[in-house]
Amino acid sequence: MAEPVIKGWCPGALRPMLSGDGWVVRLRPPEGRLSPQQASGIARLALEFGNGVIGLSVRANIHLRGVIEQGIGQLVERLDGLGLIDETHDAEERRNIVLTPFWSSEDGIVRLAAALAASMTASDAPRLPAKFGFAIDCGPIPVLSGVPADIRLERGADGGLICRASGVASGARVSADTAVDTMLALANWFVQSGGITGHRGRMTSHIARGAVLPEIFTEAMAQSASTFSPKPGPVAAGVLVGFEFGQVPADMLRTLSDMGALRVTPWRMLLIEGVSATPDLPGLVTRANDPMLRVIACTGAPGCLQAEQPTRALAKSLAPHLPDDAVLHVSGCAKGCAHAGPAPLTLTAQANGFDLIRHGTARDRPQRRGLTAEFLAANPAILREAP
Ligand code: SF4
Repeated sequence: MAEPVIKGWCPGALRPMLSGDGWVVRLRPPEGRLSPQQASGIARLALEFGNGVIGLSVRANIHLRGVIEQGIGQLVERLDGLGLIDETHDAEERRNIVLTPFWSSEDGIVRLAAALAASMTASDAPRLPAKFGFAIDCGPIPVLSGVPADIRLERGADGGLICRASGVASGARVSADTAVDTMLALANWFVQSGGITGHRGRMTSHIARGAVLPEIFTEAMAQSASTFSPKPGPVAAGVLVGFEFGQVPADMLRTLSDMGALRVTPWRMLLIEGVSATPDLPGLVTRANDPMLRVIACTGAPGCLQAEQPTRALAKSLAPHLPDDAVLHVSGCAKGCAHAGPAPLTLTAQANGFDLIRHGTARDRPQRRGLTAEFLAANPAILREAP
């Protein structure tokens, strides 16, 4: 099996990455929110410089794909005019913060995210690996437990704010005034205690290797872990809407931007602020039981240079045949970019077809090998067979 190439970095606006369908430019909207003007501007630029589709990532980033090399400079300049470009690539990379999209104007969550972003983009910020990230998840219940992050700000079991390392069931008690400093202290501890090897390192592996946290990070218990399952529909702050494979056509983004500001979620959905009725637009995923919400697929071939097979057409054809409540992850290679964790069903592309993995990740041991896309499309019942 060909091993996927692990680059250890992600594309940014100031460091685009070449893919099979052109350059990828990634944006991290400040505080995870696009004003109507920013959203309609991105839609316009995706048509002018890219392939006209805006991708939503599991880290609440936005991807413009299919960008031609000669257009990158002008695209970045126009994005800068929309307030979406950091001062430097370093600052862009370190501002790796996901916040709960369910914040309200009174709860202080946006202020905390902005303060953390300011600290992480300062010249004296800890030098963390590119994928090292923060989750600000301090609503009444955690909703970002399934989202990759290394340091989490949450409500503890007693309702107070805690800062904890991912992979540890306790954390330090903090207040809104001490939260950012405590998160930075934990990040500095990670660096100084040897969490980084060769520019890479994640908190959970560091802890699993036996690193011992400072005592203050054991003083308060986290809430019991629960997997939040977001569904399209009305929420307190507006309406959540989904998109097939997190791909938003530019004209749809422009239409949504007319309705209000948009919060970018890590579930490949957008939250339209301040509306109460779900929009009725062709292609928008608005039903909580839509089978497309239970299939995940990366770009696949030909868009990704590492992909062994196309992924999304197969995933879409299999969606209606999935067992109840099962999630299917179709991955163009063993890297599993679209879903790092295990899934009930995973199809991992190989040169000769797909491996079928049950209750594992894209790189785990398969139960079946060499299943071609044609065979799977003609025999979807294979997904319902007992292991
Ligand atoms: S998982 Fe998909 S997107 Fe990621 S490298 Fe492999 S083929 Fe490309």
